[in-house]
Amino acid sequence: MDKLPATVLAAIDEARTQQEDPLALFIYDLDALKQHVTQVMAALPKGVELYYAIKANSEPQILATVAPLVHGLEISSGGEIDRVQACPTLKPFIFSGPGKLDSDLRSALQHGVEAIHIESLNEIVRLQRLALEAGRVQDVLLRINPELPSPLSSKLAMAGTATPFGIDESELAQAVSWVDNASHLRLKGFHVHAMSHQSLVERHEQLLDLYLERWPQWKALSANPAMITHLNVGGGIGVNYLGAEQFDWQRLCAHLGESLAACADAPIVRFEPGRFISAYCGYYAIEVLDTKTSHGKHFLVCRGGTHHFRLPVAQGHDHPVIHLPRGPAISGAVERKWTVVGQLCTPKDVLSRDCPLTGVEVGDMLVLPLAGAYGYNISHADFLCHPRPPQLFAGGASWV
Ligand SMILES: *Cc1c(COP(=O)(O)O)cnc(C)c1O
Repeated sequence: MDKLPATVLAAIDEARTQQEDPLALFIYDLDALKQHVTQVMAALPKGVELYYAIKANSEPQILATVAPLVHGLEISSGGEIDRVQACPTLKPFIFSGPGKLDSDLRSALQHGVEAIHIESLNEIVRLQRLALEAGRVQDVLLRINPELPSPLSSKLAMAGTATPFGIDESELAQAVSWVDNASHLRLKGFHVHAMSHQSLVERHEQLLDLYLERWPQWKALSANPAMITHLNVGGGIGVNYLGAEQFDWQRLCAHLGESLAACADAPIVRFEPGRFISAYCGYYAIEVLDTKTSHGKHFLVCRGGTHHFRLPVAQGHDHPVIHLPRGPAISGAVERKWTVVGQLCTPKDVLSRDCPLTGVEVGDMLVLPLAGAYGYNISHADFLCHPRPPQLFAGGASWV
């Protein structure tokens, strides 16, 4: 992780020549993104699909790079429908999320949404009315919040416990019969997005096996089980921000392939990861503005901060930091544990604590990798009225 791609280094150099103020910017390596997604897709077992959950990063250049490689896109708002429509490669899209607006649902219907993932009993009634109005019979998946054995839950649980997501498994029979009886809805399958940050491949294998085990029971709730073909198993594949070892996607796919081969009546399985797709290609680069020692702690005050990159505080971790000295290495410099902070007037503006770095000087750059998912777009960019950071998209077709 300590090595930065040449494209990223070149982008920082170029940005330096273009800006007088110290830098804070995001750089996305589109070639690396393309290569990663190609590998992710190549590992999928036969008949398994992958839709990119664009809320992880829906910048137009990211979508333009990912869309041609995946089966489709997963969206959760009207604004994300607009992003998908603006993408040069039009792909099927599916719509999940609690609290969908009528205007969002109308826009989805109008733009030919492939499937809508229904999150509640009320939403069945509302969507039936809107689909009738639109004169369209809409494919839907019912999002289930199933009973899960507790060891299968994770840090950010969306199911298996009390959450606003999906339909409680105890109400599923009722939901299925409502959809069966809705003239303008067609039940195409079931959806479970149970967690984020899954780091353990064994657990994810068990989770997928559990869904496959329940699949025949869920299907049997319908009067027309033959119409029900799809099992969307959500996203949630984790990224390891603190170590080198990453989630073994190849192994998960191989396991799923075997499990599906053993199923008498296998569904079309669909993944919808976000983080695992776009995290690796992004870098947040910040310039050191000041160094100080306060009550025995060493601080690096940098351009930017958590208003650009809220992810480390949001997740409560110390983000990895790569040091790029401006000049030649200082001889005899000693390692120090630095706390890397931004420009905000709040003690919460911390990107990394006690980060061991050697010979850091004002004017050096620090680069935070793994910043391509839930980075800039989850941050409170307007706080303190600092300018928004430039986002550079390196590689791919062109510089943007
Ligand atoms: C956020 C979300 C995803 C993507 O989650 P990741 O943890 O980024 O993979 C997939 N499906 C739904 C319904 C989501 O809300």
